Amino acid sequence: MAADPRAVLVTGGAGYIGSHAAKALHRAGRRVVVLDSLVAGHRAAVRFGPLVEAEVADVEAVRRALRDHDIGAVMHFAAFLDVGESVRAPVRYYRNNVTGALSVLEAMAAESVRCFVFSSTCATYGEPIETPIGEHHPQAPINSYGESKLAVERALPHFERAYGIRSIALRYFNAAGADPDGELGEDHSPEIHLVPRAIEAAAGGRPLEIFGDDYPTPDGTCLRDYVHVSDLADAHVAALDALVAVGRSGAYNLGSGRPHSVREVIAQVETVTDRSVPRSIAPRRPGDPAILYAAAQKARAELHWAPRCSDLETIVATAWRWHRAHPHGYHGG
Ligand code: UDP
Repeated sequence: MAADPRAVLVTGGAGYIGSHAAKALHRAGRRVVVLDSLVAGHRAAVRFGPLVEAEVADVEAVRRALRDHDIGAVMHFAAFLDVGESVRAPVRYYRNNVTGALSVLEAMAAESVRCFVFSSTCATYGEPIETPIGEHHPQAPINSYGESKLAVERALPHFERAYGIRSIALRYFNAAGADPDGELGEDHSPEIHLVPRAIEAAAGGRPLEIFGDDYPTPDGTCLRDYVHVSDLADAHVAALDALVAVGRSGAYNLGSGRPHSVREVIAQVETVTDRSVPRSIAPRRPGDPAILYAAAQKARAELHWAPRCSDLETIVATAWRWHRAHPHGYHGG
């Protein structure tokens, strides 16, 4: 396939997954432009193309970015992602995640940009009725984060019919790890996800709380499918290539297909760091299903994507390396 001289706009490209995707695009020879409000993103994470500092809800600003930079495709990452907060403050999730995505699509329709890769989530499935979870599993979210992503997924066929915007929705399982080159990593405040929390605890920060050890799983803790952020980034490039080459819209799970328990993750963090992870058992976290892992064959078959660094050891080792070099994230040096 000939390289597309038009650039890719990466909304949320100063954030965790978006910055890794910007790097993967750059490596694949694509021109990259990041659009980010920097409310949650980091200027220092924007390294692979110019930054347009704007809100995705600002349709005029997005249109201007599409025009000024001769954009041919959009990858949309900009969204809030805290499931617990989405239960307490759904308005933020509907406003930012749904309205924000619709603004981007509106701008794309107005500027005749017709390729859209959407950052979706396994939270659109809700409580699983079977595992592993395939793309045909019913989508019945149990929190407004999942609802907000599903609402956008459901809008996409309508935007394709009306405006010819083809799209691929990528439903991530548990994104974790950091850029193997050490350039990029996870920097949320507060940090809520298991891998960075366990590392923080091992490094002498807040002890880890294990949210429930009475689940119907072999060791009583939840099973999740951890997938390396650089593998997710590669999947976005593969999705864009497929969209350009084949032109078929669709949705794909992105996971390693291997479930790991909370205790297994802690044990891996202890091995990699050679430190203990101070922890206690806390009540279950509302909205946490016992077992979530992906059937991810569709992405392998159709996008020719295969995770390369999603084994737990590489995930934890890269996250630990990032944490040691940047104990206070991007701002701490
Ligand atoms: N978890 C935990 N303590 C924490 C953070 C997470 O026990 O401080 C558990 C959580 O209950 C879930 C798993 O780790 O079973 C992964 O949670 P995370 O928040 O990383 O991702 P999610 O599954 O919510 O996308």
